[in-house]
Amino acid sequence: MAQSKQTDLAVLGAGPGGYAAAFLAADKGMHVTLINDFSKPGGACLHVGCIPSKALLHAAKFINDVEEASRWGIQFAAPKIDLKTLRRQKETIVDNFAKNLLDLCKRRKVDYIGARGEFVASNRLRLDNGDEITFQHCIIATGSRPARLPALQLDSDRVMDSTAALELQDVPEKLLVVGGGYIGLELGTVYAALGSKVTVVELTSGLLPGVDRDLVRPLQQRLSKAFEHIYLETKVSQLKETGKGIQAVLEGEEVADKNPVFDRVLVSVGRRPNTDNLGLQNTRVEVDERGFIRVDDQRRTADERIFAIGDVAGEPMLAHKASHEGKIVAEVLAGEPAMFDVRAIPAVVFTDPEIAWCGLTETQARQEKRQVKTVRFPWAASGRAVTVGQTDGLTKLIVDPESEAVLGAGIVGSGAGELISEAVLAIEMGATARDLAMIIHPHPTLSETIGEAAETFFGTATHLMRTRK
Ligand code: NAD
Repeated sequence: MAQSKQTDLAVLGAGPGGYAAAFLAADKGMHVTLINDFSKPGGACLHVGCIPSKALLHAAKFINDVEEASRWGIQFAAPKIDLKTLRRQKETIVDNFAKNLLDLCKRRKVDYIGARGEFVASNRLRLDNGDEITFQHCIIATGSRPARLPALQLDSDRVMDSTAALELQDVPEKLLVVGGGYIGLELGTVYAALGSKVTVVELTSGLLPGVDRDLVRPLQQRLSKAFEHIYLETKVSQLKETGKGIQAVLEGEEVADKNPVFDRVLVSVGRRPNTDNLGLQNTRVEVDERGFIRVDDQRRTADERIFAIGDVAGEPMLAHKASHEGKIVAEVLAGEPAMFDVRAIPAVVFTDPEIAWCGLTETQARQEKRQVKTVRFPWAASGRAVTVGQTDGLTKLIVDPESEAVLGAGIVGSGAGELISEAVLAIEMGATARDLAMIIHPHPTLSETIGEAAETFFGTATHLMRTRK
């Protein structure tokens, strides 16, 4: 029988934003109801995004490492890939994490409801199981979904979005990846390691548009060996099922074969916020022309009872930004003086090599005509990088020439995603290049490249000859 329930805080969506908000609000004494249209919490990140893709990238790394080992005189037999075991391993990782989250809900006394919710008023949700929830406050954390291109819509399971590609039905002999962004390059890396001939088609003039070119270059060089083709400034204008595969129409000057046939196609051309079919018309919540919910710096919408966080509340669409926003809202609801006030949101592309950056980028500085000094430390001069065969890596810092404050950082090389946190801390703490140059980094590690990049600002990097400033 349909029930009517009351709660202090309803959280719609149990991804990294929603569950972080729900857990902290419960820790602060609120009665929290976490509503999610899937029986298990975790959201797209856990079930069809960050976690399964990183599990598969981990497997891809084994394969690539075996190849690399031969350069060191260590030979292994060619890998035999048991897709069933690989899929099961990935699924076990995801399931175990989801179980832990469910357990954390129980222990925190967060009511977890596996149902879809829609607003019927500014203080009430109706669920598709018939229940109604009346709330004091609500957080919308419904995330995003893969964007679709109408011209490439085809009723064929050979055409995949990231969710379908992560299912790893098979290893296609030829895979077309439409879009050279985060997803296209990460999943392209997985499929290439497993044995697919991967063609990436990117509309703009470079992979990972928006990312500083010097960070992308080493990745592009390696991918041009791992992938069959990388076509830039090229458009996939049509896909056609031939029975034996998918024939694509490629429009671009570099392309020799304009009508190649692929066994599968991955369309990864961005994501769209999930703000439709939420009943927002029954509230005062406002949505912008791109579908993002308008929020203030406490993540409150135009409807004072309702907050929005994560992918629905604007870019960057990154899980860690969502979690941070979720915790801010829990603090605001607990009456604390919290607001979203960050200088550096890190971003990581988990390719091989990884690319990570935070704070101000050189591209942004140029667009904003800001005076900055960029200092670079090439990994060829790092003892640690040499030992792990990562001499094409680079660490750079973007520094205010007057105050010497670190404004941004970018790293390309193995472990860049782990290394970037030091730069995030530096930027958030208002550290200067001198601070980073003066702290002792352990030797021999890749973290030394941050210290030496900072020393480069003063022309004193131990392993580089540079003119003084
Ligand atoms: P993206 O925005 O990173 O890349 C999409 C790419 O597709 C762009 O380079 C764009 O120029 C290109 N493109 C658009 N239309 C095209 C067309 N018709 N033909 C060819 N290329 C076209 O989007 P994504 O890779 O789909 O990822 C979506 C979002 O998911 C990312 O923006 C990111 O926020 C998030 N994500 C993050 C991670 C991570 O943190 N490591 C990983 C995966 C996804």
